[in-house]
Amino acid sequence: MASDVTGELSDDATGDVKGNLAGETSLLLSGTDTAPVHETNAAGASPFLFTCDHYGRLLPKRLGDLGLPESDLVRHIAWDIGIAGVAEHLATLCDAHLVAQRYSRLVIDCNRPPDVASSIPRLSEATVIPGNEALSEERIAQRRREIFDPYHRRIDAIINQRLHQRRATVLVALHSFTPVYADVARPWHIGTLYHRDTTLPPLLLRALRAEDDLVVGDNEPYAVSDLTDYTIPVHGEARGLVNTGIEIRQDLIADHSGQQQWAERLARILTGIEAQLRAEQKI
Ligand SMILES: [Zn+2]
Repeated sequence: MASDVTGELSDDATGDVKGNLAGETSLLLSGTDTAPVHETNAAGASPFLFTCDHYGRLLPKRLGDLGLPESDLVRHIAWDIGIAGVAEHLATLCDAHLVAQRYSRLVIDCNRPPDVASSIPRLSEATVIPGNEALSEERIAQRRREIFDPYHRRIDAIINQRLHQRRATVLVALHSFTPVYADVARPWHIGTLYHRDTTLPPLLLRALRAEDDLVVGDNEPYAVSDLTDYTIPVHGEARGLVNTGIEIRQDLIADHSGQQQWAERLARILTGIEAQLRAEQKI
């Protein structure tokens, strides 16, 4: 549990003891809330397994608007703008399985270890998230149990099944990044994000840099670490899978045509990389 996340005392301080106790036994997601895990093309034949931790920006009805105006709930702090469309097209073009998480990362960030403070952010960029203040341990655990855990259990099960079937599996985590963060403009169109895998990131970087019109980030604007990431360290590195993350700048994929174009470009590049990996018997 993160040290700056307060527990029962804070709930008592609100005077909402009865409400809190009632909450201890109820679920976060009700029957009318959407299931957190979304999958496309589960029978896809490709070695690529796409994940999308920040695919959606749904909020459980019980959490209301987290105390934020709608204008904040559509910003990059809530989700990875544009990546859902790219991911869907890409899964179709590559005949690959996509597994994605539909709830906003403001509810719980599915690419953070659940014991770090930014798992349920109280501050994102410069925006305070009122609905994440002073949560009881039970309310924190609820978000993990009902959103984070089902998503990661599903990814784990998919990988288990693929390995059991001796299917080549390459994990690619799909993300997008905001073009301006904390008043600093970012020059990259696309970046790779990786840590321990030495097979796929160099191939992907070389292929992206061969595209004449791209500014490519090598672990920019983000790198992967065990403290700031979950999907790649846990499902890629710890399972021994060839893996990388991909980050696309959000202004390039804000509309359908941008999403389609980037999916087509990535499908072409990844198809070439698959052939290389097979030729080198890396998968
Ligand atoms: Zn992301």
